[in-house]
Amino acid sequence: MVGWKSFIERLIIMSFIDYAMKLMSSASTTTVTCPVCGVRSIQSTSKIRLNQAMICPGCKSLFVAPH
Ligand SMILES: [Zn+2]
Repeated sequence: MVGWKSFIERLIIMSFIDYAMKLMSSASTTTVTCPVCGVRSIQSTSKIRLNQAMICPGCKSLFVAPH
């Protein structure tokens, strides 16, 4: 039947992407310390690299981690 093979292919690609995303997210996290309250939290290194603001889980303040 038409679409059968593409369905399997899509399933394989989807699971591969999911695996790759998990691998990347686990590999690219780091612990940052909040400059306001000092609470340590796990953030992605890509956020730090791109100078994106992150939210502190302790005091909910936005801060940009130093490189
Ligand atoms: Zn804080």
